Amino acid sequence: MSIEAVIGLEVHAQLLTRSKIFCPCSTRFGAPPNSHTCPVCLGMPGVLPVLNREAVRMAVLTGLALGCRINQKSVFARKNYFYPDLPKGYQISQYDRPIGEGGSVEIPMGIQERGDGDARSEEKRFRLIRIHLEEDAGKSIHEPGGDSLVNLNRTGVPLVEIVTEADFRSPDEAHEFLQYLRRLLLYLEVCDGNMEEGSLRCDANVSVRPAGSPGYGTKTEIKNLNSFRFLCKALAYEVERQTKVLAEGGEIRQETRLWDEQTGRTVLMRTKEEAHDYRYFPDPDLLPVVVSDEWLEEIRSQMPELPTARRRRFESVYGLDDEAAAAVTQSRPFADFYEEAVRLCNRPAEVVHWMVGDLTRDLKK
Ligand code: ADP
Ligand code: MG
Ligand code: ZN
Repeated sequence: MSIEAVIGLEVHAQLLTRSKIFCPCSTRFGAPPNSHTCPVCLGMPGVLPVLNREAVRMAVLTGLALGCRINQKSVFARKNYFYPDLPKGYQISQYDRPIGEGGSVEIPMGIQERGDGDARSEEKRFRLIRIHLEEDAGKSIHEPGGDSLVNLNRTGVPLVEIVTEADFRSPDEAHEFLQYLRRLLLYLEVCDGNMEEGSLRCDANVSVRPAGSPGYGTKTEIKNLNSFRFLCKALAYEVERQTKVLAEGGEIRQETRLWDEQTGRTVLMRTKEEAHDYRYFPDPDLLPVVVSDEWLEEIRSQMPELPTARRRRFESVYGLDDEAAAAVTQSRPFADFYEEAVRLCNRPAEVVHWMVGDLTRDLKK
């Protein structure tokens, strides 16, 4: 019996606003610990959050780019839990009325050589469940000597959380999706995509089942995968672990696990919490968010040409093959530069050659 993986991702992306989502503190990374804080993001009693309009615009733009239905009225909710990096004792998030729902993306999967020597990528469709806005928590630092410290500069930085359907059937597909999503966020100029600094983070939900069978098996969730390499390694390990447990007649428990880079394994973090454990309720300090028809249209009109469309246009307009079009549309500045260069010299093939060769080498230097 062959086993297939079933994977769904929850991606957190920090939005590139200058100030935090509910207070005027700066979102800049790397400042001295706790210097970007104020009574609001420190969770002092009696303070009131004021919503950052730009964060809403970026979330709506992202939702539109992912094909989501935008809820023109959405609601902030309190997600209650206790942790030292969460000074209020709750995170302001969205629950039953998020900014966007549904949607899907079509992604060109890795370029396959065909028998006839023509290399072409096939597009695959992956569905989304929702996109919502929330505030980030702070960062705990556990020192080797035993001290635990907390840095609240990140507390209140705006995030979008993007949740996919469990549509990925291999670690590779999940990886391709995350790369696509990162590129999309950069094209939209809503996130810097920096995984090392934590601007883009990913939790992966994994289960396995007999290939082609209809239902889903019990899943585990792997938290906080902060690089593409860790995502691939953790998924491959977890699929193999679950396959083995089932082959030996065991059962998968629903639990949250962590990737341990030292040992190359996923390890148990806690048994799974349920939504009701968080006592979600609408935040009484914040009005529902209303996106008017006019504002929605204004945001829609700011939509740049998206990576896949641009890649396909480059193929037809400049006569590039799939691989060349993919290479020069890898980022928006690169694609803009390509178009400008071709406009000046009208030699589309040579410009590709130069950009992926000499220019890329020089840029790396
Ligand atoms: P939870 O309540 O545990 O957060 P959700 O139903 O909200 O679970 O789904 C969270 C993520 O887990 C989504 O990306 C979803 O696609 C994925 N998911 C749900 N069930 C499974 C499963 N059996 N196997 C793999 N992924 C799953
Ligand atoms: Mg979850
Ligand atoms: Zn603040």
